Amino acid sequence: MKNIFFTPGPTQLYESVKSHIKEAIEKDICSISHRGSEFQSIFQGTVLSLKKLLGIPKNSHVFFVSSATEAMERIAENCIEKHSFHFVNGEFSKRLFEAVQELKKSPEKTEAEPWEEFNFNVRIPGYAELICFTQNETSTGASVEMDRICQIKKENPEKLVAIDIVSSVPYADVDYSLVDCAFFSVQKGFGMPAGLGIIVANEKAIEKSRALLDKNLNIGTYHNFISLLTSSQKSQTPETPNVLEIFLLGKIAEELGSKGIENIRKETEEKADAIYNFFDSHSSYKPFIKNRSIRSKTVITINVDNSKEAIKKLSEHGFIVGAGYKNYKDRQIRIANFPMHRIEDVKRLLEVI
Ligand SMILES: *Cc1c(COP(=O)(O)O)cnc(C)c1O
Repeated sequence: MKNIFFTPGPTQLYESVKSHIKEAIEKDICSISHRGSEFQSIFQGTVLSLKKLLGIPKNSHVFFVSSATEAMERIAENCIEKHSFHFVNGEFSKRLFEAVQELKKSPEKTEAEPWEEFNFNVRIPGYAELICFTQNETSTGASVEMDRICQIKKENPEKLVAIDIVSSVPYADVDYSLVDCAFFSVQKGFGMPAGLGIIVANEKAIEKSRALLDKNLNIGTYHNFISLLTSSQKSQTPETPNVLEIFLLGKIAEELGSKGIENIRKETEEKADAIYNFFDSHSSYKPFIKNRSIRSKTVITINVDNSKEAIKKLSEHGFIVGAGYKNYKDRQIRIANFPMHRIEDVKRLLEVI
């Protein structure tokens, strides 16, 4: 029996990953120079496919880093001189807040319990330079409606907005005219091996980084926005990158693109509805998030009496689901709903439960 990973990341690989890796090996992708034209055309192809799939404007920049955690640090270094403001409702939003603190800057936050909506009328200090959201809080399965994020940006047009879309991409429909920085990694919704992070940054984010540099402030070394931009203009990266992953991402983005992002979003919603409806009427397993407007479509968290037991039972049928995060480890399971998860398998998983 082959396992199916419904874990929220790393997760099930796209079926085609295997053949793409084979192709990469056959084409010597892992041995070519990252300063040569073959790499440049891989770089260009991946950026193009990704922009097309996600609706990223032509003049926004796509940077390759090593992980989403790295992306957090890079954004903190390049978009904040001193003050940021964070919407914190779980472990990943907290992680970005702490990254800013660790860099000796002064983040402030508004907090919400995982099951609550944020207070979007919160006063954001005038001196805040960057506002940060974790659009899909993977630790709890709570999401922030994109309209709310856009509204905050409209009310604070002079501030930068950064969003973590690690566990909602490519489902998340981001308005890149309002979001200055978005970031993700590839071992979740893109169904790839871990080891690549992506930052989508617009001109305003670059300007901010340049302004900090002009003030003689530290914006980091090889992966600051200016060196990432300079390299990307040559279809290169500052360092020797994970060429295999950049190649794979191009292939997967192209495949998802030919499936159609609208179809992917529709399927994601259908599967999420099936899962939530099932648990809403289950006698003992219940969705952790009751408020439908903040229920994540891509990471679904369920209260169970004993998660170890539930996980073990499911694994006996070949379904691997995630445990609750940190404090919720023993009392919750998390079920990922990414584009590679097929409705038939979701239904079989629910049948087993
Ligand atoms: C997984 C995850 C991260 C961290 O991603 P890495 O690639 O492990 O650095 C950050 N934010 C969210 C919301 C995540 O789900």
